[in-house]
Amino acid sequence: MTDWQELESKYYMQVVVRTPVTLVKGEGARVWDDKGKEYLDFVAGWAVNSLGHSHPVVAEAVAEQARTLVQTSNQYYTIPQVQLAELLVKNSCMDRVFICNSGLEANEGAVKLARRYGHIKLKGAYEVITTINSFHGRSLAMTAATGQDKFHTPYIPLPVGFMSSVKYNDIEAIKAATTDKTCAIMLEPVQGEGGVNVPDDDYLKKVREWCDSKGILLILDEIQTGIGRLGALWGYQLYGIEPDIMTLAKGLGSGIPIGALLAKESASVFAPGDHGSTFGGNPVTSAAACAVLEYVIKNDIHGNVKKVGQYLMEGLQKLKKKYSFITEVRGRGFLVAIEFDNDIAQDVLMACLEKGLLVNKLKPGAIRLIPPLIVGNKEIDLAIGVLDDVFSGFVK
Ligand SMILES: *Cc1c(COP(=O)(O)O)cnc(C)c1O
Repeated sequence: MTDWQELESKYYMQVVVRTPVTLVKGEGARVWDDKGKEYLDFVAGWAVNSLGHSHPVVAEAVAEQARTLVQTSNQYYTIPQVQLAELLVKNSCMDRVFICNSGLEANEGAVKLARRYGHIKLKGAYEVITTINSFHGRSLAMTAATGQDKFHTPYIPLPVGFMSSVKYNDIEAIKAATTDKTCAIMLEPVQGEGGVNVPDDDYLKKVREWCDSKGILLILDEIQTGIGRLGALWGYQLYGIEPDIMTLAKGLGSGIPIGALLAKESASVFAPGDHGSTFGGNPVTSAAACAVLEYVIKNDIHGNVKKVGQYLMEGLQKLKKKYSFITEVRGRGFLVAIEFDNDIAQDVLMACLEKGLLVNKLKPGAIRLIPPLIVGNKEIDLAIGVLDDVFSGFVK
């Protein structure tokens, strides 16, 4: 049998520490490796496979569109792109959409839009406030926007125009960082990669009020939290506010690479030529995202996340009571972290892998569970069972 992992180490840039398994097939919440072993997937392509793997509505939409029309450039009108934009607008508080290919692109677009807004309406204000432990993507600008030093250090000097060392869940820190150069504040409703950090219930409301009082924009990065992951279609709905700009990607295409930048009419200041993309909103990716969004809305998948997410949290709380080395379980919906009192996350991940459960290492001392949005109590029971089994091996 081909040793794909050895070939990878020879040919691929070594930018990520991979889990030693080669996946060849997926269906629903399950994946199989090249030796035929089955796994329950609580990583879901990093919170991407919202409808699980190879969902028939996604597969059909892609296949049919691929047979019909794949790419035209944005010089022309195409139907799936307009359908997706309408679907997003009719089911959110937003008025206009720009479709791109990934999360970082959506955020780049958001920051460009906020800068245009600053040029036009705020006397040239350009700076965007972001928070410590945020994650906004891997381009140079989004690296600068990301409030984690480990992403900055290798790439200094970084683009200017970001104030990224502001404490999360602290309105006073935002107030103190705001100057006449500030055009926007960019936040995740719940911080994902940076630790699954859930803010106080009134934090976003206070930020919204602050933005209104200063006339600056609120950008919500819902790349990880959008499309139902927190148990509501959009994260902002849980906090009783509306952003001026919102970005989406991960769950939008259930695995088909697509991102979206959405804005209220009042913030939608791009003019022809200001922004663009060769592939963005291509018929195939747009058709896939339409299929995903229609399915999520019609079947109340976010309602499933809310219900089953509570069940997951109850199961994890029981594990926390049982194992004293678990210091915290936290999160909302299907974005959940388990924190340990020492750096055992990699060992836990490997033990779970051995027993057929895929989990994500969030940091040396914490794992993250981000299952497909379609899993039910049965899959939760299976996952909790494996975790229980694994944790019992860590009792000293
Ligand atoms: C994953 C992620 C991004 C970056 O998305 P890419 O598609 O990897 O560029 C940005 N913001 C948040 C909150 C994310 O979770």
